[in-house]
Amino acid sequence: MKVLVLNCGSSSLKYQLIDMTNESVLCKGLVERIGIDGSVLKHEKPGLDGKHIVETPMKDHKDAINHVLSAVVDEKVGAVKDMKEIDAVGHRIVHGGEKFASSAVLTDEVIAAIEGVSDLAPLHNPANLMGVEACKAILPDVVQVAVFDTAFHQTMPEKTFLYGLPYELYTKYGVRRYGFHGTSHMYVTQRAAEMLGKAPEDLRIITCHLGNGASIAAVDHGKCLDTSMGLTPLEGLIMGTRCGDIDPAIIPFVMKKENLDADGVDKLMNKQSGVYGMTGISSDFRDIEDAANNGDKKAINALEAYIQRVKKYIGAYAAEMNGVDAVVFTAGLGENSISMRADICKDMEFLGINIDEEKNNVRGKDTVISTEDSKVKVLLIPTNEELMIARDTVKLAK
Ligand code: ADP
Repeated sequence: MKVLVLNCGSSSLKYQLIDMTNESVLCKGLVERIGIDGSVLKHEKPGLDGKHIVETPMKDHKDAINHVLSAVVDEKVGAVKDMKEIDAVGHRIVHGGEKFASSAVLTDEVIAAIEGVSDLAPLHNPANLMGVEACKAILPDVVQVAVFDTAFHQTMPEKTFLYGLPYELYTKYGVRRYGFHGTSHMYVTQRAAEMLGKAPEDLRIITCHLGNGASIAAVDHGKCLDTSMGLTPLEGLIMGTRCGDIDPAIIPFVMKKENLDADGVDKLMNKQSGVYGMTGISSDFRDIEDAANNGDKKAINALEAYIQRVKKYIGAYAAEMNGVDAVVFTAGLGENSISMRADICKDMEFLGINIDEEKNNVRGKDTVISTEDSKVKVLLIPTNEELMIARDTVKLAK
């Protein structure tokens, strides 16, 4: 069975065609600048020398997906002979609200339900749905599946998902914690259990997804008990450009002082904060690490604050689960930054966390990086959200 996995943003889309008989990626790529000048498709296939680039106007997602499919079936750069070989399409959908605790076939009712929660993710859900509509028009006979970023976290109980706010805000508008990156937290949970030779149900795992956006989850015996992102992906850890947890009273204070409206303060917290806002240097941790190594005080402070916040959550989640058996690092920073993993795990012996310096000297490869006698196992697991989406798509398409 061959599954096309699509992740549509408002002006970009990422895709992978996966052969599910052996879970291999047949081809993959990215379209950028959909609907704006300079639309470009960058397509890759194992064995293909370099990227196949298509620069042509693409006015909307339907246009873009048509170009993707042309590349996928292209005699030279493609991976299949005919579009008919695509058995199913799996879509990443950011917000499923409380309606979706698992993936779902994209029927008209499911699409309407996703639209119904779009005000919780106004930048993401409408863009995700543009991809769904375009695929339905181009591949009307192919089953389409929605895989939600929020679904894995739907096992959170009231005690972790309710805010200390008037209850009516929850019943009227769905103001509660939802959590994001669920597909990634679920993938690394399953993979960690496999690597440790146990079932997820026998483990208490803290999964740290540290990318541009970052979140951490307490997975208690296979179920998400708590996660750091909330109603939106702004809560929790300090991120590339997002502030994470702050005193909520800062919002009206800054609005008054800086004469900002709601959109202005939203932009400040989402796009102008995080390590970017703290340093004025960059949102990319490689630049921050370079600057810190060159003695830049703001960069040193930002990294230390970032690390402190992750440590705080690990401690909190260990307390919530009455202990922890494994800590997993994943995503751009978690997979690649040796020093970040080492600094987060430093001085955590009290909790039973001991990492092995030599084993930790690795990037982007499934590895147990704790010492033999570390009570808590520490793992590095490259995330694979696309594979998780494809697996769910296969399950539902069958
Ligand atoms: P996204 O949330 O956009 O999917 P990724 O998971 O791809 O992000 O993570 C991207 C981030 O990972 C980059 O912005 C960068 O900060 C960080 N990163 C990637 N490689 C390294 C590295 N070698 N050292 C430190 N940070 C890295």
